[in-house]
Amino acid sequence: MACSYCKKKGHTKATCSKLKVDNIKKIQKNGLTIPKLTSIDFHYTSCLEYDYDTTACTGECDNYCRCSKIINAEVTEVNCTEIAQEIIEEIEKHNKIKLNEIDKYAVERLCISHHLWDGDNFYVSTDPGYYGEEIGGIFLEGTTKLEEDLKTVLDLPTLKQKVEFLLNIEYGYILDELEDCSYFFKTIGKSSISIGNDSYRKKVDHTLYEDYEGVFGIVLEKNHTFRLIDGFHRVLSTKEDNLRVLVATPIEE
Ligand SMILES: [Zn+2]
Ligand SMILES: [Zn+2]
Repeated sequence: MACSYCKKKGHTKATCSKLKVDNIKKIQKNGLTIPKLTSIDFHYTSCLEYDYDTTACTGECDNYCRCSKIINAEVTEVNCTEIAQEIIEEIEKHNKIKLNEIDKYAVERLCISHHLWDGDNFYVSTDPGYYGEEIGGIFLEGTTKLEEDLKTVLDLPTLKQKVEFLLNIEYGYILDELEDCSYFFKTIGKSSISIGNDSYRKKVDHTLYEDYEGVFGIVLEKNHTFRLIDGFHRVLSTKEDNLRVLVATPIEE
């Protein structure tokens, strides 16, 4: 059998090494391609509520109305972490690569800042069926800006640039203390993280990140302490003892 990509015999397109090399070259030149997010069905990561309307029934149905329409369809619950995971997998599939830790984190944070935790940003599609109207899927409304931001952050060359891009999107500026910092990932004990502004604690929904396993936020390392800079919500609501974080350390001059 011949490879449908390079036409050589002895392997298939799935194992073609030329295709692999060409793909890496293409990504280096043009960056990643972000798939159309509006075509992803989030049926399995969201909850919805709806009613059946049978007022247009012809009266010819027996014990089951086959002309029912779905009305009041509303996405009531969205798991933003799982939505992000689906988007990560779509990007990986589309570009035939695996995203690294910072890029996965970037996708997750952008999903949050683009309010993908809000059911109002999704719509429910319906399909006609022999047994009345059926739920087709749950899709995102407008996603152009999110796709643009994903493309920008994933194409940035350094970890520092990616982190700063995300902070700018979330807060609109970079804290003075972070200006000359470099970043690295580390797993640290929750008890070693100091939380400066405690008044935030009461406002936190403590169930939101209960089962969260990703990166918990950004801490600033200074004199052997870790001050929490970003991720109050995640850190305050977790029950885990050891947390994966991004550590910011001032660059020595
Ligand atoms: Zn080949
Ligand atoms: Zn009917």
